[in-house]
Amino acid sequence: MSEIKTQLVVLGAGPGGYSAAFRAADLGIDTVLVDARATLGGVCLNVGCIPSKALLHVAKVIEEAKHLSANGVSFGEPQIDLDKVRAWKDSVVSQLTKGLGGMSKMRKVQHVQGYGKFTGSNTLVVEGDAGTTTINFDNAIIAAGSEPVSLPFIPEDDRVIDSTGALEMKDIPQKMLILGGGIIGLEMGTVYNALGSQIDVVEFLDQLIPAADKDIIKVYMKTIKNKFNTMLETKVTGVEAKEDGLYVTFEGKKAPAEPVRYDKVLVAVGRRPNGSLVAAEAAGVNVDERGFIAVDKQMKTNVPHIFAIGDLVGQPMLAHKAVHEGHVAAEVIAGKKHFFDPRCIPSVAYTEPEVAWVGLTEKEAKAEGINYEVASFPWAASGRAIASAATDGLTKMIFEKDSGRVIGGAIIGTNAGEMLGEIGLAIEMGADAEDLALTIHAHPTLNESIGLAAEVFEGSITDMP
Ligand code: FAD
Repeated sequence: MSEIKTQLVVLGAGPGGYSAAFRAADLGIDTVLVDARATLGGVCLNVGCIPSKALLHVAKVIEEAKHLSANGVSFGEPQIDLDKVRAWKDSVVSQLTKGLGGMSKMRKVQHVQGYGKFTGSNTLVVEGDAGTTTINFDNAIIAAGSEPVSLPFIPEDDRVIDSTGALEMKDIPQKMLILGGGIIGLEMGTVYNALGSQIDVVEFLDQLIPAADKDIIKVYMKTIKNKFNTMLETKVTGVEAKEDGLYVTFEGKKAPAEPVRYDKVLVAVGRRPNGSLVAAEAAGVNVDERGFIAVDKQMKTNVPHIFAIGDLVGQPMLAHKAVHEGHVAAEVIAGKKHFFDPRCIPSVAYTEPEVAWVGLTEKEAKAEGINYEVASFPWAASGRAIASAATDGLTKMIFEKDSGRVIGGAIIGTNAGEMLGEIGLAIEMGADAEDLALTIHAHPTLNESIGLAAEVFEGSITDMP
């Protein structure tokens, strides 16, 4: 049993936790970073953002090769060596987690491996592979993240997997059901479909990626209609595990009459915050019944020297939100008067094509009673999109009608996530349609569509394709 005294302990080494710990160390604070995993990076680097994007890269190359094969450059049918695909994905993850380990050492952030629980308002006890460590701290940041939600009526079976199981890539099932039409499920569906699986998606609501606007998802539905069989307004009522497969029964608008056999079922119905798993109450920190911890704009909990950041403080559960919150918490602990007060947080589904939005969606603008106007530019009119076989795309901008200020934007199409930065910056800077329309965008680029949509709003659309 060992004991450590520190100015700051950070519980959880995901994007929120390691960003907070590194910023605090840079500001001269003596910092200990605790995680149950042996590697840093949390869900995002180990079993989330990064491994999924490595596999989505594989899927994208397969798609592009298929398109070229129909247009004069033939690569033949892809031969999948799953062990090598898995090894490539793992090498991407280990390169990044090792990099984080190095950055942590460089800053003299002490990494304690093990499962941590609060035992008082200034004590955390960590049970790890090397034994028990008691950490006495002046300040703490809780960054314990979230975990996949499981459904109680679905039996425990190797063939029922969550996103972590899907990323393990044990095999390529012939037929897979994705339960939940959100971002994580659709990203994994994109990967497995490219590798050869037949994919069914079932979603209880009337739209995939429900947070996005309907017109954007309409374009997405068109692009996936030959890849996924989508069952909207339908729910799973039971899963029976038999020797030859999982038999799934459905109810609702698109429900098949008989149970359908699948080789695998991926449950992707959301994530649950880990706030209830760290014994926060022993430190006097309030945790709500769902596991969220409430914080103020400086990321302080109800206990002033204990902060919380990332997935467990609320939606959206995204890595870049956690990073910025982590920086604010560390800076406030270092005595700076900083606040987490972004005008917008981008959301991206890295599907093929990508679906991305930032700021207000049209449905949010409507619900808030804002006098807005939408201006869109379809990619079928973009020279770069045509030359890249990427015409299934749309750039949609939302402006405040009277001032012309940019209040939101959404893009569906190849590289939509990369393009979104310009709209986010416009919103943060309070730019208006004229600012975007007068910004000279390089030609031919997909980004031109943002300037052109602004010109549509201005009523001055040019003839540049
Ligand atoms: P997490 O990354 O969840 O890390 C929390 C860490 O705390 C974990 O390592 C856990 O081991 C540790 N921990 C928890 N409790 C304890 C304890 N008691 N003791 C010790 N350690 C503990 N977001 C994006 O922005 N972009 C994406 O492309 C994206 N893709 C995703 C794909 C998938 C498949 C998944 C599952 C998620 C994805 N996300 C993505 C979401 C993103 O991973 C999370 O929003 C982000 O990781 C949250 O960061 P965090 O710092 O809150 O905590």
